[in-house]
Amino acid sequence: MNDNDPVLVVGGGLAGVGCAHRLGDEGHEVVLLDQNDYHQFQPLLYQVATAQLPAEDIARPHRRIFREYPAVETVNSRVTKVSLIDRIVQLEDGRSLAGSHIVMAVGARPNFFGTPGAAEHAFPLYSVPDAERLRLHLRDLLAQVAAGASPEEAPLDVVVVGGGPTGVEIAGAVTELMAALHKHGQLAAPGRVVLVDRADTVLGAFSEKSRRYATKKLKRAGVELRLGVGVSAVHPDRVELTDGSEIRTRTVVWGGGESAAELAADCGPEPGRGGRLDVLPDLSVPGFPGAYAVGDVANIPDAKGVPLPQLGSVAQQSGFWVADNIVREKAGRPTEPFHYKDKGIMAMIGRNAAVAEVGKRRHQVDGPVAFAAWLGVHATLLSGAHSKTDAFLSWAWDYFDRDHAAIVEASADPARIAWDDEEADRPHLDLGRPGVPS
Ligand SMILES: Cc1cc2nc3c(=O)[nH]c(=O)nc-3n(C[C@H](O)[C@H](O)[C@H](O)COP(=O)(O)OP(=O)(O)OC[C@H]3O[C@@H](n4cnc5c(N)ncnc54)[C@H](O)[C@@H]3O)c2cc1C
Repeated sequence: MNDNDPVLVVGGGLAGVGCAHRLGDEGHEVVLLDQNDYHQFQPLLYQVATAQLPAEDIARPHRRIFREYPAVETVNSRVTKVSLIDRIVQLEDGRSLAGSHIVMAVGARPNFFGTPGAAEHAFPLYSVPDAERLRLHLRDLLAQVAAGASPEEAPLDVVVVGGGPTGVEIAGAVTELMAALHKHGQLAAPGRVVLVDRADTVLGAFSEKSRRYATKKLKRAGVELRLGVGVSAVHPDRVELTDGSEIRTRTVVWGGGESAAELAADCGPEPGRGGRLDVLPDLSVPGFPGAYAVGDVANIPDAKGVPLPQLGSVAQQSGFWVADNIVREKAGRPTEPFHYKDKGIMAMIGRNAAVAEVGKRRHQVDGPVAFAAWLGVHATLLSGAHSKTDAFLSWAWDYFDRDHAAIVEASADPARIAWDDEEADRPHLDLGRPGVPS
């Protein structure tokens, strides 16, 4: 390894793409490595899972994102090992690469907390293939019902585990989809959607007012809330809850937590909370010169030393910041501590229902104003992969404003975000993954 080696950025999510963009802008040689040939936009995964958007609309090929960045080379391969001490990565295809600096941006993975059967039978919602698997599973059940299967043969009831933003979003969207199918005469009766959380509220990180709003909206949409109770086991045809009760279902969606991606476990440092890499205020990994960690794989301290949440804005901003620090290091200047510009926290509960807490004082808003805040933040995040976000904005307003689930079902085709791409360059989606329900 020497100073002329490229910067290795491991992971092409919001953090890795942000970092590579910034370094590429400055003309620094970068190798961006990812197991997928595309960047995936996780906040819209629930839209793919419920057939409101095609997968291609939220998965953008890396080579396309960086086609005007000659300094950035994208490598599509799974990284099997990272050594932060000598800044070397090993690839599945047998190659190994050395870098002048290494940026860990490998994100997170679902955490089943050792719940028996969850890894085998639940549907996590963490990647585009996860969302596609869930969509195809729901489609298959609905097709069976349409062909005359009884509720015992093809139960449509869905259990969502976790009452955070992911669980709330997917519960809201599945409920709307069922209601739309029912309204259009395609389902005699919509399946139940049951949201389970050990806490006694949904959206625990939000204010009391937001939680009340979300609870009211979810209940009004028809979501059943089972709060204060956990999932003790997942079976192919039912879940067991910690209060001894059971719910018959073949669809358990896991939004119940996450931990750092596998690669963080043995790259050198002892992992911290959530299996994540602890970093110093300048995002460097202590004891490993030239090594940094950003986004969901890192425990990034705020100005008071409290770890920042796993959010898209944190990932993107930390990606930019680490690039600036690497540029400073290369120029022999001192690095600077990361300053996070807090965009607030927000969740979509369904069509026409959203909550947001914005600004330093976490000002609470809901309904269309909250949706507008959500839109602003997500358009900024998406702009890293799609230079033009007008199409996203107009699609999203249309979605929020109209009975989109009903429209989708009436036409049987997901709406598209009209990205207006001039050439076909589709991401390669591989749904095969051992140990995951199909
Ligand atoms: C369902 C869902 C909804 C969300 N909604 C919101 C929201 O509304 N607003 C918000 O702000 N945040 C949201 N988040 C959180 C946000 O998406 C994340 O904080 C953010 O994407 C993290 O970015 P990252 O770059 O750190 O990781 P990721 O985006 O996960 O990227 C990590 C990359 O590393 C690659 N990788 C991992 N392991 C390897 C390996 N061994 N070899 C090669 N490549 C590898 C992966 O393929 C991936 O491309 C949501 C998350 C989820 C799961």
